Amino acid sequence: MAQRNRSFAVIGLGRFGSKIARELVAYGNHVIGIDENERLVSAIADSLTEAVIADARDESALREAGIGGYDAAILAIGANLEASILCLMNLKNMGITDITVKAYNSQHQRIMQALGATDIVIPEEDAGEHIAQRLHNSAIQDFMEICEGNYVALVQANRGCMGKTLQDLNFGQKLDVQCLGIMRHNTFINPATHQEKILAAGDKLLVQGSRAAIRNFADAR
Ligand code: ATP
Repeated sequence: MAQRNRSFAVIGLGRFGSKIARELVAYGNHVIGIDENERLVSAIADSLTEAVIADARDESALREAGIGGYDAAILAIGANLEASILCLMNLKNMGITDITVKAYNSQHQRIMQALGATDIVIPEEDAGEHIAQRLHNSAIQDFMEICEGNYVALVQANRGCMGKTLQDLNFGQKLDVQCLGIMRHNTFINPATHQEKILAAGDKLLVQGSRAAIRNFADAR
């Protein structure tokens, strides 16, 4: 569910931070961007609510920029571990409780976890996982882990599904995955009310299950 517009501080305006900052503005949020690199700050200044040149290791500089009053922070300094750690400590000292951190690798992730980051992403690993999955089987068009070992995936309906109804396929009984919906062109079809819907070429199924179960379902031709 979309939240009311919020205020975000994005610290580190490299490719990752600047993209997030622009997207958050596009959703109507109040966004301040911070980077020590003057060129990057000037380049993005017109696109954000505010953009400030500051060293994120310096708590007083962050306080001066008013970061303490923001709803959430995105810490997008990847490669400089020392700056990333000090910035997280500064943000916590300022009372910000919702902090998403971009980590460079799993060691960085562990440190940020121990220091109390709310959410930690390693974008290169996430992207690598998605691309490998698509290369392995192009029928799985997108997927996300909803909790430990439990996934939701958008899978191209295979030939075995064609001409059958969801009832015929008997999801959850014969198949180890559950069907949460059918995507036909741009329309979402609710399986709870359309058990009799006959699957056609081009349909995509939104399914939930373990990684192995989803892979087996997608691999079956
Ligand atoms: P990306 O992949 O997002 O381009 P990256 O993971 O390679 O970035 P860095 O380039 O190390 O990460 O850092 C991202 C941004 O953070 C850079 O624009 C850099 O200038 C900025 N940055 C690094 N250290 C600090 C600091 N101490 N204070 C403010 N900004 C910083």
